[in-house]
Amino acid sequence: MPEKDKNTQEGPDVRGSMIKVNIDGDTMFVDSNQYKMQVDHAKKLLRQKRLPKNPKPQEWKAEDYSLNKIADYKPFNFVDGEGVRCSLYVSGCLFDCPGCYNLAAQNFNYGFDYTQELEDRIMNDLAQPYVQGLTFLGGEPFLNTNVCLRVINRIRKEFGHTKDIWSWSGYTWDELQQETPDKKEMLSKIDILVDGRFLESQKDLTLQFRGSSNQRIIDVPKSLKAGKVVIWDKLLK
Ligand code: SF4
Repeated sequence: MPEKDKNTQEGPDVRGSMIKVNIDGDTMFVDSNQYKMQVDHAKKLLRQKRLPKNPKPQEWKAEDYSLNKIADYKPFNFVDGEGVRCSLYVSGCLFDCPGCYNLAAQNFNYGFDYTQELEDRIMNDLAQPYVQGLTFLGGEPFLNTNVCLRVINRIRKEFGHTKDIWSWSGYTWDELQQETPDKKEMLSKIDILVDGRFLESQKDLTLQFRGSSNQRIIDVPKSLKAGKVVIWDKLLK
């Protein structure tokens, strides 16, 4: 052990709870708990400084990125919107929000293939009278429009509007107005859009169905009719 690293103090050897770090070429012992807290704090500050990506209108196309993969399917849950819902998590997202709640699902190749069997299962689950509707999450549903439109069109064909459709998106309402026809078609066929990137600096875990206060729960049919954003009338916070 180099001479400078030897513990020469009297009394108990406090290095048992300490770790050796090298800062700018100097080796020193620091309290491991304090060091971890400082590193975590520095990481959090870095995350807050870094912002999600901002694509130009129509820069990202589902046809260029989507592999029609599903990260997860969760039937009969109470957390992804109003009432009892079935949730389809699609794979792939390019927004790269620091603090993203589902990092693995940012990868377009994550999970398993969307299949006819899964689609039939979703329809069977939705047919239960206590199920209010389906929710799309991700990943980014609007970069997986092939899968989402297939499901949406089948829901409307079999259930009409007796089941509602919610979708989360990193795109804002205004951005979607300038997007590709498939994204606009998907927007026009859903009931609720929870819009916008997750912003760590505006994180608020007390919000209803959202992670940060910039995100909005938008009533899509009313907004399209009014030509401006109309917030869901059951919003509590
Ligand atoms: S938009 Fe959602 S899925 Fe995409 S990076 Fe941001 S938080 Fe993650």
